[in-house]
Amino acid sequence: METSTNKLPTILIVGAGVGGLSLYQSIRKNLGQKFNVKIFERENSPEERWQGYNIYIRRQGVTSLFYCTPPEVQARFPEAMPDPVPKEHHTIAIIDHIGRQLLHIPQPKYKSVYEIESLKHDFAGIITYRNKLRDILLEGVDIQWGKKCIGYEETEDGVWVLFEDGTREFGDLLIGADGINSPIRKQKVPNLEIFNLGITAINVDVAIPKNLADKMASFYSNSLMQKSIGQNGDSFFSMMRLVPIEKSDEPCYRLTLAYHYPTILDIEDENCKVDDDNPESVIKHAISRIKQLRPPCELTDLMIEIFSLVSYSDPEKKILFPRRRPLRDIDPLSVPPWKDDRIVLLGDAAHAMNPILGLGANNAIQDADLLTKELLKYENDNLIECIRQYNTKMRARASKDVQASRTTALRPAVPVGSFGLFARYCIFRAINAIIYVVVFIQTRT
Ligand SMILES: Cc1cc2nc3c(=O)[nH]c(=O)nc-3n(C[C@H](O)[C@H](O)[C@H](O)COP(=O)(O)OP(=O)(O)OC[C@H]3O[C@@H](n4cnc5c(N)ncnc54)[C@H](O)[C@@H]3O)c2cc1C
Repeated sequence: METSTNKLPTILIVGAGVGGLSLYQSIRKNLGQKFNVKIFERENSPEERWQGYNIYIRRQGVTSLFYCTPPEVQARFPEAMPDPVPKEHHTIAIIDHIGRQLLHIPQPKYKSVYEIESLKHDFAGIITYRNKLRDILLEGVDIQWGKKCIGYEETEDGVWVLFEDGTREFGDLLIGADGINSPIRKQKVPNLEIFNLGITAINVDVAIPKNLADKMASFYSNSLMQKSIGQNGDSFFSMMRLVPIEKSDEPCYRLTLAYHYPTILDIEDENCKVDDDNPESVIKHAISRIKQLRPPCELTDLMIEIFSLVSYSDPEKKILFPRRRPLRDIDPLSVPPWKDDRIVLLGDAAHAMNPILGLGANNAIQDADLLTKELLKYENDNLIECIRQYNTKMRARASKDVQASRTTALRPAVPVGSFGLFARYCIFRAINAIIYVVVFIQTRT
């Protein structure tokens, strides 16, 4: 592939999520001398869709975020990643169905997001407000809103991206950063399919009062990433900060909570009538499944109380509406390597993963970092070689995380009896011991 030497090649990015925006920022910061960049988003404005919920950004993701962004964006990171407050442990704790601890990852010490990159600790990371991170990444970005991509057309010397409104744009490279349902992926790699794990998730974002936040913290030894595994194939997964939400009279804390259970339960249950467009119906269903699958105990009561707090009405429809969603993923190594050409996939478009290990956004940001570094090697006619390197490394890294997230979701989705429970405790204790040894070695050297 050759590009004209007297004009900079143009990169077209479709999708202004965390992946697309990180790449846009990175091209402007690190590749401004080599490429022009344009970004397109199907939504009509930054506020159109709820961007909320808490996400975990681990050290590798933080490192890539710093690489991709200019100082004025980095200066705003604490808006999305406030400094840890004394009680907070930005790690995961796993407990059983009645609250007994199974695994607790040791806490790395840092005072702010600016210290994470240099930590020698595999489990360092920070719980982040996803909506605020997106706002920050929008800084200085000239997005073309209301541009829903419906496909592309390649020519000998470039690529046209096609939009639903009948317009099109020409460029040298097209980046599909358009999420799990990416029309660009469907055209480029039609055989790369979405895998359904057979697990239903009901996700809610809820503001909880201080007494409930304290109870959650105490069940999980102050860990902010929290998982409780049930005996009947169900689990709770939650993430919170102990930093109160702004603009509330009483201190209130944002909790992202997901309840997971085997989808087969809904299929086999003839009385299961849930209206997924009616949040009240979905919440009632979640509570009835919890009562069915969990033993009566303090932890169960707490989860029911939290689900009961979800507000049902938002006139502007900008909250994360609870609905039943299947856990899904895309393993980029489940198909033979696709062609290295002008069409490049990034983030969930290439490798969506279920949220249980909190790795999806991290991988999207790492993709932006990797693609930038490969494009830094671009000279005259080696664009395809840069893309080849990116595709190979991205697929290998992301596939590993997709598979790890899949296994972690599927393993507890099988009901266990007393022997299974005993085996589960033994396995978790062994894993926990190994993690402590690894962290001890890492932090001593
Ligand atoms: C409940 C939950 C918790 C999660 N927790 C974590 C976590 O703790 N850590 C973590 O790393 N990840 C987490 N994730 C995953 C993470 O949110 C995603 O992996 C991440 O958002 C992917 O970023 P992306 O930019 O690739 O895609 P997206 O964020 O999906 O962005 C894609 C963008 O493309 C736009 N778009 C889509 N189609 C088109 C089109 N046809 N034309 C134009 N634009 C289009 C969309 O509007 C969107 O703006 C979680 C996900 C969920 C649901």
